[in-house]
Amino acid sequence: MAARSIAVTREQVIEALRDVMDPELHKSIVELNMVKDVEIRGGAVKVDALLTISGCPLRETITNSIRDKVKALPGVDTVDVQLGVMTQEQRQALVGQLRPGPQKQSPLLSPTSRTRILTIASGKGGVGKSTVTTNLAVALARRGRTVGIVDADVYGFSIPKMLGVNGKPTIIDQMIIPLERWGVRVMSIGFMVDENEAVMWRGPMLHKAITTFLSEVYWGDLDDLLIDLPPGTGDVSLTIAQTLPRAEMLIVTTPQETATGVAYRAGRMAEKVNTPVVGVVENMSYYLPAPGAEPVYIFGRGGGERLAGMVQAPLLGQIPLDPAIREAGDRGQPVTAVSPDSASAQVFYGIADALLRK
Ligand code: ADP
Repeated sequence: MAARSIAVTREQVIEALRDVMDPELHKSIVELNMVKDVEIRGGAVKVDALLTISGCPLRETITNSIRDKVKALPGVDTVDVQLGVMTQEQRQALVGQLRPGPQKQSPLLSPTSRTRILTIASGKGGVGKSTVTTNLAVALARRGRTVGIVDADVYGFSIPKMLGVNGKPTIIDQMIIPLERWGVRVMSIGFMVDENEAVMWRGPMLHKAITTFLSEVYWGDLDDLLIDLPPGTGDVSLTIAQTLPRAEMLIVTTPQETATGVAYRAGRMAEKVNTPVVGVVENMSYYLPAPGAEPVYIFGRGGGERLAGMVQAPLLGQIPLDPAIREAGDRGQPVTAVSPDSASAQVFYGIADALLRK
């Protein structure tokens, strides 16, 4: 008869639990003091863990990953996971730990923050600014970057739909946790209020909402934060430039003369508020009726290059007009995520790589 040779220890269980990440906070549940108790009886292990809030939508994910990690230890036969909820004090301690400092201020606003901040601007609506933002974010995430998007386009809020995220963000003691999809963390005013309501907001309210996103959202340690600006050169764009003096701007245009002219105004605004323009992206550049066919220049040619010359920044990519891009956006499954090898997706990856080289 094979005798049980190893008995699992509490230390081993805790060590294994270090690999269990809180799916929203991206930190170990041990580090976050979410493990309340571990009880061992022979091969039976019971783990008491604490959730940040009751009704946490990710309780099943946490339960499963605790069970899987502990079950994998030698000497463990069964794992019982009990979930409780943190007290107000415990939540406050957690928020304090995640956001040290007296103001609990977001590290994003610090001049020493290492996060690259990129605003995505266009002169007018409908040129594909949000499409570029989502696909670029996914491409950067797939290149191993930790990426966030602020959807500041109060006239559109298309980002949640294009990424396929819905629901409400978790709020822990006034700290807002962004939603996440395709490895991209997202905040949109659309999560908090009705779209029609937000369009009627005036400057100061928008200012407040945007600064809240930058200061009270727990973004974690981001490599890149992409901010989808409203079209044109209004209040929100100015607010962001003022709040985030480190931001750089990417301008999206179509090849058309008029689109380029209005995009140039966005470039001029960037100059006025000292935001460097890192590059220009031309969208809807051409249409390929069939693979290998001659491209058709539906919206004319040369707008991206002209604009790049005007704002003295490189043209980082020319994205084809491709029904697959629109359909993917409508489904909430960006081409860069679901068909990364397609020619269209590769253009977005090329732009991401060009940004990473800079
Ligand atoms: P904006 O943010 O500038 O208002 P969107 O990104 O919302 O523009 O794009 C407007 C519409 O055009 C959306 O339906 C989007 O799917 C579609 N679209 C954007 N870029 C392309 C493209 N390259 N090919 C096909 N459709 C596109």
